[in-house]
Amino acid sequence: MTDPAANRAGPQTKAPALPRLPNLLAGQKALVTGANSGIGKAVALALAEAGADVGINYVVKPEEAEEVATAARAFGVNARIYQADVSQEAQVLTMFSSFVADFGALDILVANAGLQRDASIAKMTLDEWNKVISVNLTGQFLCARAAIAQFRAQGDTRSVSRARGKIIDMSSVHQMIPWAGHVNYATSKGGIMMMMQSLAQECAPDRIRINSIAPGAIRTPINHDAWATQDAYDKLMALIPYGRIGEPEDIGKVAAWLCSDYCDYIVGATLFVDGGMTLFPGFATNG
Ligand code: NAD
Repeated sequence: MTDPAANRAGPQTKAPALPRLPNLLAGQKALVTGANSGIGKAVALALAEAGADVGINYVVKPEEAEEVATAARAFGVNARIYQADVSQEAQVLTMFSSFVADFGALDILVANAGLQRDASIAKMTLDEWNKVISVNLTGQFLCARAAIAQFRAQGDTRSVSRARGKIIDMSSVHQMIPWAGHVNYATSKGGIMMMMQSLAQECAPDRIRINSIAPGAIRTPINHDAWATQDAYDKLMALIPYGRIGEPEDIGKVAAWLCSDYCDYIVGATLFVDGGMTLFPGFATNG
């Protein structure tokens, strides 16, 4: 059958293609976790397009990470790949020290790596709960802690940005929308919200900017099948006022802009990039 989700642009638009991102991040060094797939890949490529050198973290499938690195280099920047399971403290520390040894500094962390292990509460195992919390939440804590230590150590030695360092945590609309059958995932994203805000409050005096992006439904390998039938696609569209599924690039471009000095006064914010999913669309016709 035809893929109902293949209507990438949604209702027909006559808008021109997006121009290349300006050099918003020239000379900056960025590490993106979970960057060999989906949203992380699009973020790494957008940061490269905006002039940043990029580190591409992966846990499996190095060949995909190499492909992203090659695509990033086509923008004229340096790119290297780093294997690390973000839920493992020692691996995270090694990744950050290797990155700094290779690139000489760190200016941006996009903590994106995440996964789902879905089950109703009656069936969810402790392993499924622990796996999601350890990758999605503890992994972001470990990466943020390492990045903040590096930003503080660098102090004012960098002259590429007003902030001493920037972190973007990849959250989800499910930091706000409860999600039956996904209690581990929704809890991890709700935790990210408080972690991000608490760290933003603690680190802002050091001129370290920490924010989140909360994507809605984005077409990536993990969820593409979920919308493959017409019925599933129609149900999803009822939740998205803007009338289309998001593309990874929708998140990538926002991440590049949020890391730039145009956003220097954005601290501790969650940017919902969701086509209006968090607008409670069920109330559009008087509830
Ligand atoms: P994806 O599966 O394409 O990408 C997830 C990435 O995380 C992969 O590269 C994977 O290898 C990596 N990863 C998983 N476990 C890891 C670990 N232990 N250490 C290091 N890397 C690990 O999925 P995606 O949709 O691109 O998701 C990326 C992020 O966006 C996740 O945090 C996800 O929760 C969030 N998000 C996605 C959507 C969506 O609709 N796709 C919506 C909201 C939020």
